[in-house]
Amino acid sequence: MEYMPNFKLHRPKSKDEAAQIKNESSDSLFVAGGTDMIVNVRRGIEQPHHLIDLSDIAEVKEISQDKSELVIGSGVTLNSLANSEKIKSDYPAIADAALSIAGSTHQQYGTVGGNLCLDTRCLFYNQSEWWRQSNDYCMKERGEICHVAPGGKRCFAAFSGDLAPAMLVYNAEVKIHGPNGVRQLALQDLYRNDGMNHLTLESNELIASIHLSNNLAGSPSKYEKARIRGSIDFPLAGAAVRLEKENNKIKDITVALTGVNPFPQIIKNTEAMIGMDINEKTLDLLRENVRKQAKPMKTTTVAPWYRRRVVGAIAKRLMHELSVE
Ligand code: SF4
Repeated sequence: MEYMPNFKLHRPKSKDEAAQIKNESSDSLFVAGGTDMIVNVRRGIEQPHHLIDLSDIAEVKEISQDKSELVIGSGVTLNSLANSEKIKSDYPAIADAALSIAGSTHQQYGTVGGNLCLDTRCLFYNQSEWWRQSNDYCMKERGEICHVAPGGKRCFAAFSGDLAPAMLVYNAEVKIHGPNGVRQLALQDLYRNDGMNHLTLESNELIASIHLSNNLAGSPSKYEKARIRGSIDFPLAGAAVRLEKENNKIKDITVALTGVNPFPQIIKNTEAMIGMDINEKTLDLLRENVRKQAKPMKTTTVAPWYRRRVVGAIAKRLMHELSVE
């Protein structure tokens, strides 16, 4: 790790002030909990001249509910999210996911917005300056080639946030604040399949809140991931499953993945399972569907074939557990 470089720290008190500072400061970055961002700064991956600390903005630190939706402020900490009785009872996969992020001390600082905007990760990117320099860097940062797929023009760094898949199974939306006003979009549309530029946010926009419709509140769900160190790591592969059943038949099912693509991925074709009996055959059908759609590349020390197999196994296990509860 390098020493922290020189930068100017800003501590805005409102979203408007934060957006204005971002607009006026070149080479600036937003930082919330900083649990991942500061590591990247100390590795020389990020070299901001201005850091805009969002942790003093009180208006984004609450979870609230009205007649139609639950609203989670982007500055809510992972610890608060994991311990919210509302989240635990009505959106359980989200509580599972928050509780699985890094270690408990990180959860005190890390925020919902930070985890949704987590940079994509790769074995050849999340390294110290001297390591990356000795390897001629890579396309995602200062280099010219991709060490994962040499000859290609795409970056396959994996999205490794835990909250996004758990929120995607509840059709979450995000409200985005920027100098041109506010816009709201499906969480799915926050991401694109590009490890170098996986967020559709403009550089001067920030996530203000996450919106979960009351329509799906209480729909049973779970989240689980495989990781190298069980107490602290990013997901090698993770899945969230939301399953509603009736008379042992599938009434509704949504599955979303993390760690196996540059974006959090909703599994396609699950609607074809609606009405099917829940049995070994349908559990295997889901597992194979997940394995076919997950596209992990060699972005970790763990082989892609293993991550593809394990993500299918996780989805199958979660569906089974939800089916017998
Ligand atoms: Fe770099 Fe390739 Fe890894 Fe992307 S996938 S971070 S371009 S080595």
